[in-house]
Amino acid sequence: MRLPYAPRPVAGEGLSSWTARLAAHNYVDLPTFWTWLAIDPIDDLRPSPSTVDRLAEVTGVPTATIADLCIPQSRRPAWAVALDPDGRRGGACPVCCREAGVQGRDHWWPAQSVMLLWVSCPVHRCTLVDLDGLAFVSTGGVLKLTLQDGGALGAPRTSRVLSERTLALEASLANALAALPIGPGWRVRSARSLLQATEILIDLVLYKETGQTPFAWLFEPERIGGPFILSLQASEPIKGLDALQGQSVRSRRNVLSALAALLSRPARLEGEIAEILSWRTAPDHQGPYRTLVDHIGRDGRRRLEAALQHLPNAIALPAVAALADEAGIGGNGLHKPLAFRNDYERGL
Ligand SMILES: [Zn+2]
Repeated sequence: MRLPYAPRPVAGEGLSSWTARLAAHNYVDLPTFWTWLAIDPIDDLRPSPSTVDRLAEVTGVPTATIADLCIPQSRRPAWAVALDPDGRRGGACPVCCREAGVQGRDHWWPAQSVMLLWVSCPVHRCTLVDLDGLAFVSTGGVLKLTLQDGGALGAPRTSRVLSERTLALEASLANALAALPIGPGWRVRSARSLLQATEILIDLVLYKETGQTPFAWLFEPERIGGPFILSLQASEPIKGLDALQGQSVRSRRNVLSALAALLSRPARLEGEIAEILSWRTAPDHQGPYRTLVDHIGRDGRRRLEAALQHLPNAIALPAVAALADEAGIGGNGLHKPLAFRNDYERGL
């Protein structure tokens, strides 16, 4: 049995995007589509062989082509965006969608966008747009992602190209998840250290002292305040990657940019970063960590101290220096991370 209409996947498209298009072209929502195919909701990170077979059967698309829609590095559930209430994952590029529309093709979204810390279009390098609030509307047989109020996808400001540093971390994390080399330019060398440091630092860049903004928000290109600023209290349980689940691309992008500043080798921190980090003097190896310590408050500093033993030395050392600087050199009984070296090795 074939679907009445089954477009082939677009090059670079995610499984979530393609299946959402299949459902929309056949005038059903995704849950109805799953029921109709007699399959479980699609795990588009690692779809079961029977699901892939069933999709191949109803669309005529080869199983190998369908399996290729899932990129290997997305297959770690903790690092992937959760399914939204509509059964989708990911984020769309307004430029790709606009181009597709001009060519008379469906809007779609890229496979990489299912990763929690992937926020750019792989082609245009601009920020992706949240699917939240967007739905496919069919116009003349072509699907367009449309806002609930009928508005079109993609105001010009959302086509902003991301900073090189942010894009570099995005790519290095994807490489790390695929067990590939992470490339030069980072304080840490190994994929494992990069992933570990990233998971630990997420909470810290989101902590804020009363009346402050979190460190991550320093990286927001349009500094407009408001309740949509993602922040955590240092008194809450540590969340790690979960802190980013269900959060907007905007919040995840700011976290990624903040992490890129903390993880970059000092020599890479030039230009606009000096203003972001309020460097009054020439940048030094603690630079971003000093600014981080300024923003996280007393409880946050305690959390950072507790995290030192789990952080790679290349990250823990400048953090210790910044904490010592804040407390007054030699004061406060701060631990040196080297004392934890053995615990750290064991913990890995
Ligand atoms: Zn694009």
